[in-house]
Amino acid sequence: MLQLSTHPSGRHFLQIPGPTNVPDRILRAIDHPTIDHRGPEFGALGRSVLAGMRKIFRTEGHVVIYPASGTGAWEAALVNTLSSGDLVLMAETGHFATLWKKMAERLGIRVEFLPGDWRRAVDPKDIEAHLRKDARHEIKAVCVVHNETATGVTSDIKAVRDAIDRAGHPALLMVDTISSLGSIDYRHDEWGVDVTVAGSQKGLMLPPGLSFNAVSSKALAASEKNTLPRSFWDWQAMITSNETGYFPYTPSTNLLYGLHEALEMLFAEGLETVFARHKRHAEATRRAVRAWGLEILCSDPERYSPSLTAVMMPEGHGADAFRKVVLEHFNMSLGQGLSKVKDKVFRIGHLGDINDLTVCGTLAGVEMGLELAHVPHQKGGVQAAMAYLAEQSEVRSRPLQE
Ligand code: PLP
Repeated sequence: MLQLSTHPSGRHFLQIPGPTNVPDRILRAIDHPTIDHRGPEFGALGRSVLAGMRKIFRTEGHVVIYPASGTGAWEAALVNTLSSGDLVLMAETGHFATLWKKMAERLGIRVEFLPGDWRRAVDPKDIEAHLRKDARHEIKAVCVVHNETATGVTSDIKAVRDAIDRAGHPALLMVDTISSLGSIDYRHDEWGVDVTVAGSQKGLMLPPGLSFNAVSSKALAASEKNTLPRSFWDWQAMITSNETGYFPYTPSTNLLYGLHEALEMLFAEGLETVFARHKRHAEATRRAVRAWGLEILCSDPERYSPSLTAVMMPEGHGADAFRKVVLEHFNMSLGQGLSKVKDKVFRIGHLGDINDLTVCGTLAGVEMGLELAHVPHQKGGVQAAMAYLAEQSEVRSRPLQE
C-alpha cells in the first residue's frame, strides 16, 4: 500500500550553526555533469577555486582542499606538522576543542589542555604563561578554535599570536576556523597563523564534504621533517598537483563547481559587508534573547560570536524538548547542546546565506516555540530584533536611486 506522507509547505528553516542553507545559485552550480578531473577543463576550475580560497583565508601561501568534512582537515593539520610524542598546547573552549584534543591524543601527540568553563574564549595570557614556562621549547604547536561552535564564543587569534611572540616561543600556531571562515574577519598571513583549518558547510554556504588547510611556509618546512605517518592527507602531493590546478586523487568535482559559485557570491557582496552582516544579525539575535529574559552562554560580551548564539534554558526546562516543539510546529531546526551543555542550551545559527527576514523568521519561531513549550520568558524578543534591524538597516545609508 502507498504510504502517504504529509508535505510541509514552505522551506525548512535550517538554523543550526552549520551545515547552513545552500543558496539556489550554488545548488544549480553543483547540478552539472561531472567532468574528467584529469581533462583540459578541470585545471582552470582547480586554479580558480584555489586562488579564490587564498583570498578568503587572506594568504599568499598554499591552500589545500580535501574531499572530506572538517574533521579530516583537523587530522591533516596535525599529521603534516608533528611527530609521535610531540607536545601541543590546546585550550578547552568547548566541545570542538575537546574533540580536536582527543584526536591529537589518538594520533600519539601529547596535549597540555588549558581548562575552560565553556563560556569564555582562549585566554592569551594563559597561553603566554605556559609558553614562558616551556624553556626547552618542547611545545611544538598551539592549537585553538577561532569560533567555538558549541558555545558561540569567538577567540582573538591576533592576541594569541601576540602572546606566542611575547613569550619568544617558536611553536606553530594552528587555528580551526570551521564556523568562522567566510562569516567572521580572519587573516591567516597578517595574524601569523601557520595552519588554518576550515570546512565547506558553514560560512562558505556549501553542502558538507570539502575541507581546507591554509599552510604557512614555516608549517610546510615542519611537514618535511616530522614523522607522523600520512598518505591521503599529505600536503606535498597536493601542493605539487595543485600547481597546475589538478589533484593527486579524485576531487569532489561537483562541490568545486559549488565552491566557485560561492566565492563569486562572497566577492560580489564584499567580505567586509559579509562580516558586518553577520555582526548585525548576531546583535539582533542577542537583543531578542535579552528581551525574552534568557541568558546567553558566552559570558564575555567582547567575545560574542557573530555566527551563532547559544542560549541557556531556564532551570528545569530541557533544550531538546523545546527544539522538538520548534521543529514539529515550525519546521525549523535549531542547534542542540553538545556534550557538557547537552539539553542545557540551544543554539541559533545566524551564519551563511541569511538576511534580515531570515533572522526575524528564525526568532519568531523561537519565540512561538518558547510559548508552546511552556518555557518561562517575556514577550517582545522579535520586536526588539526588528527595531534594531530597521534602525541599523544596511541600505539606510545608501543614496536613493533616481
Ligand atoms: N570544528 C568546529 C569548530 C566545528 O564546528 C566542527 C563541526 O561542526 C568541526 C570542527 C568538525 O567538522 P566536521 O563535522 O565537518 O567534520
